[in-house]
Amino acid sequence: MSVKLIAVFTLLTVIAGCAGGPSETSDCRIPSSGKNVILIIIDTLRADHLSCYSYERNTSPAIDSLADCGTLWLNAQSQAPWTLPSHASIWTGLSVKSHGTTHIGGVDGFDLQLDPHLPSLPAALQNFGFQTSGFTNFVLLSDKFGFNHGFDWYDCDDSGERTATATVDAFLFWLDNQAQTENFFCVIHLFDVHAPYAPMTPYDTAFCSEGVDGVSRWDLTEDGEILNIEDCRHLVDMYDSEILYVDNELGRLFSEIRLREIADSTLIIITSDHGEEFLEHGGIGHGHALYQEQIHVPLIISGPGISQGSISDIPAALYDIMPTTLSYLGVEVPESVEGLDILSRAPDQLRSIPSGGVSPDRFFLALMPLTDFQSCAVTEGSKKVIAYMGTDQFIQFDLDEDPEEKTPFAADSAMTEKALFYWATPRLGNPSPTGELTDEINSTLRDLGYIR
Ligand SMILES: [Zn+2]
Repeated sequence: MSVKLIAVFTLLTVIAGCAGGPSETSDCRIPSSGKNVILIIIDTLRADHLSCYSYERNTSPAIDSLADCGTLWLNAQSQAPWTLPSHASIWTGLSVKSHGTTHIGGVDGFDLQLDPHLPSLPAALQNFGFQTSGFTNFVLLSDKFGFNHGFDWYDCDDSGERTATATVDAFLFWLDNQAQTENFFCVIHLFDVHAPYAPMTPYDTAFCSEGVDGVSRWDLTEDGEILNIEDCRHLVDMYDSEILYVDNELGRLFSEIRLREIADSTLIIITSDHGEEFLEHGGIGHGHALYQEQIHVPLIISGPGISQGSISDIPAALYDIMPTTLSYLGVEVPESVEGLDILSRAPDQLRSIPSGGVSPDRFFLALMPLTDFQSCAVTEGSKKVIAYMGTDQFIQFDLDEDPEEKTPFAADSAMTEKALFYWATPRLGNPSPTGELTDEINSTLRDLGYIR
């Protein structure tokens, strides 16, 4: 990274300070001066590529700064390895089996829309009197898939091409046009880290000299096989550069929040919907398997009453965000919710957390057989089982001993039982098929590698 670039990032990090965090440490849960919530979802961001998660590169000075002022969960697990079902879990506090919002098997199957009758975080806060707004950047999060329900203002760019800069600007414009007496809940979804990785100048040369002159997406055959495996390192460089760019925009967002003097009354949550594979298990991208590179996500919460500079190794999950936020604000959590309030919950290292909703046929893959649609994973402490229901295979890993999941062994009866128990979860939602999608939507999904 150039000296000039480092100087910019350092300055922004200093400006960001403890945005969203109180100036004094306290354990009071509810701020006296109002309460707002900003939920930031950085699509496709694996936890281990952030510096605050011990990544070797300095990809995230602003996010690190926020983590210093709040609490970081080391072990947060996504409920699905791709956008649609994962966001449905964030919205509803439910596992994929419960909300049922995913893809129905095979290349000719349909996606399902989020059931608007399920309790959701935006709807609950709208009912509680909050102004609710969403700024999202992918068609799978659009009104066509039911994600606008519960928002007073919902601004989705279907193309996935709106930058973090434009999205943050759209949020600030909305914020500046709100009555300052109203509490608000806002979702900011950023899509820049998702492939193709095409960081803009000067970020493109932050981690390699070639910039995007090298390659910004995988070069594949028609069968989905990689032509140039040596591109992997360069693609990781580009992926990390996109993270750095998004982080810089978040630094700007944090400083703008402080300038508007709402930092002391605003809870900020940063997470991702899933990770990204760079050949760790022979595949690329996401959505096709349940290994850690696809489901280990960052989770940081900072704001009034949140313990500062804390690092928690208690297992957390994306479906915890809904009940945690509602509890923090004093809003009743719906009984059906499966997630937990991780801010007040007693430590429980042996909590079982499920993931599912794999959709391999919809994603380009390479060098690996398609994972069975009928698969799920359950972690419990360091134990993790991946169950392939179609072939009746249950493999297990010890994440302490084998964090890269290179040495599977036959699952023990207890973990097999947990996978079967999750698989038998009754569906609460009644999602409806999207049916045939428009040519424009199919074109967007094809460009992004979601369909062939
Ligand atoms: Zn996603």
